[in-house]
Amino acid sequence: MPVKCYLKEIHIAPTFDCNSGCAHCWNHKRKKEPTLQLSDLQFFIDNYIYAPNIETIVLTGGQVDLYTGLFELCRLLARYFPRATIVLTTNYLNPERTVKNILKIRNELSPSNLLYISMPLEGPPGLHRIIRGNSSYLDEVMERLQIIKLHNTILGTSFTITPLNYHALYWAYSYSSSQNLDFWASPFSRSYFYNNLKLNWSFLPLDKMKLSTQIDCVLSDLSKKQDPEIITKHNYFLGLKAFMCNPASFYMPTCRAGSEYVVIDSQGKLKPCVLIDKEIGTLRKGLNACTPNEIRRQFACSCWTVCHAYGMAKKG
Ligand code: SF4
Ligand code: SF4
Repeated sequence: MPVKCYLKEIHIAPTFDCNSGCAHCWNHKRKKEPTLQLSDLQFFIDNYIYAPNIETIVLTGGQVDLYTGLFELCRLLARYFPRATIVLTTNYLNPERTVKNILKIRNELSPSNLLYISMPLEGPPGLHRIIRGNSSYLDEVMERLQIIKLHNTILGTSFTITPLNYHALYWAYSYSSSQNLDFWASPFSRSYFYNNLKLNWSFLPLDKMKLSTQIDCVLSDLSKKQDPEIITKHNYFLGLKAFMCNPASFYMPTCRAGSEYVVIDSQGKLKPCVLIDKEIGTLRKGLNACTPNEIRRQFACSCWTVCHAYGMAKKG
C-alpha cells in the first residue's frame, strides 16, 4: 500500500537540455539525459501525494521550453492542482517564441493557478552575455508582454549572485523595478545542478563589503515603498545580507527539504533540494521517510534559495 507524503512544494526538472551555457551551471552539459515521463509523474501524484496540499510547483531544468511535453505537463498540473502557484523559469532567447509559449501555458493552466514567470537577469547586457553565454532579449520580451493582459500572472527576474556580477545587483533591481518586474536575488551554490563555476573561471573572491553596499541600496529603496508584501521582500534581502556578508555559518530554519519539499529530476528521481544530490525516492517507488534535520546533519549544509528563504522572510 503506497504511503502518502505531505509535500507542499515540488520542483520539476523535466529536461536538462539547455540552450544557454551559464558559467555557474553544468546542466547544459547534460543534454543527452532522458526526459521526464509524464506517466511516471501521474503515477506519483495518484499514489503518493495529497494533491490539495500542494501550494507551489516550480518548472525548472535545463530549459523547460525545450521539453517536448511542456504543454501536456501544464495541462496535467492544472487538472490535479488548479489552485497551486506554478513558477515557470525561462531564458527568453527567442522573444517571439517565449511570448507564444507563455500565452499557451497561461491558457493550459486553470484560471485559478497563479502563474509566476521567472526570467534570469545577470546584470547589464554585456555582463549578462558573459555569464550566460547568450545575449539578453528581456527588453524585447517586455515590449511584447506589456501590450498583452495576462490573467493571474506575475512577471519577475532572478539574479544569481556570483563573483563576476555581484556589483551589478542594484542595477538589476533598478532595471526590474523600472519595468514593473518582481525581483529576487540568490547566491550561486555548488550543487549537482550548479557547480562548474570553478571549472570556468579562476575563482575571484567576492568583496563582501561591496556586496553589502549593493544590498543596502536595495533595502533603502524598499523601505520607501508602502506595499505590505514589501516587508517580506525587505526581510528577504536583510537575511540574504546576513547569509552572504557575515562570517558566521547560517542555519536555514525554514528548510523543508525532503519532507514538504522535493525536487523531481528528468529521470524521475526524487532529491531533497537542488543542492543535495541524494536520491530519496523515485516517482514509481515514492518518497523515503526522511526529515530536513537528518539531511542537514548528514550533509552539514546551509543555503539561501528563494523557496526556503521566502518562508523565513514571510514569518519575519
Ligand atoms: S542556469 Fe539554467 S539557463 Fe543557465 S545553463 Fe543552467 S539550466 Fe541552462
Ligand atoms: S539547508 Fe541543506 S537540505 Fe535544506 S535546502 Fe539548504 S542545502 Fe538543501
